[in-house]
Amino acid sequence: MFGDEQMKIYYIGLSKMNEKIHFIFMGKPSAGKGTSGQLIAKLHDLVEVSTGEALREIAQSGTPLGEKVEKIISTGNLVDDELITEILKQKLDSINKGIILDGYPRDITQAKTLENFFKVDYVIYFDAEDDVVINRITGRRTCPKCGKIYHIVTIKPKVDGICDVCGSILKTREDDTEEVMIKRLANYREKTEPVIDFYKQKGLLKVFNANPAFPDLKDDLINFFDELINKVREK
Ligand SMILES: [Zn+2]
Repeated sequence: MFGDEQMKIYYIGLSKMNEKIHFIFMGKPSAGKGTSGQLIAKLHDLVEVSTGEALREIAQSGTPLGEKVEKIISTGNLVDDELITEILKQKLDSINKGIILDGYPRDITQAKTLENFFKVDYVIYFDAEDDVVINRITGRRTCPKCGKIYHIVTIKPKVDGICDVCGSILKTREDDTEEVMIKRLANYREKTEPVIDFYKQKGLLKVFNANPAFPDLKDDLINFFDELINKVREK
């Protein structure tokens, strides 16, 4: 039997292992990484990190690095790879919990760089067909006032074309077209798909079927992560 003291040490051990779980979420644009990440992070007390958000955060920080980034973004320029990596490394180092990394690495060069400063436990590939993600985007309607997102088939508002929350008329965002999506998918195929093979060869890749719409895949998603996280704890 465990005494109180051993029990305490045992639980501290468990929570420490849990803290260290590092996931990378990968998949086509609109494969559901963001929505899934929010749910899983909440359930397992993980921190979601995306490069976009890390950049916005640092730009507002008022530090010398932040001012540099702010200047680049406000002049409409792209932040180069080296700087993104530096910011990401700072962000990841500052987190003392399990992490879900989303939006990085986008290509093989970034994947190799990441190996220098981030231990990866699992890479989750949100596997969805092209026509599924294209339908998700072209059917998406956004509230221009409060930002709430709907879908003409899967997340209908109570009244057609009207936001449930604020009553505004829903709009299709300019980028939410089949044409833009096909371009994004081509770019993804060329640059990001090789990263999936890279992790597969390392034995880190787990595939999750992301074809169903979010409400329907919620239970599968929860079970999938429960199993993975238990496995890491048992290691
Ligand atoms: Zn609204």
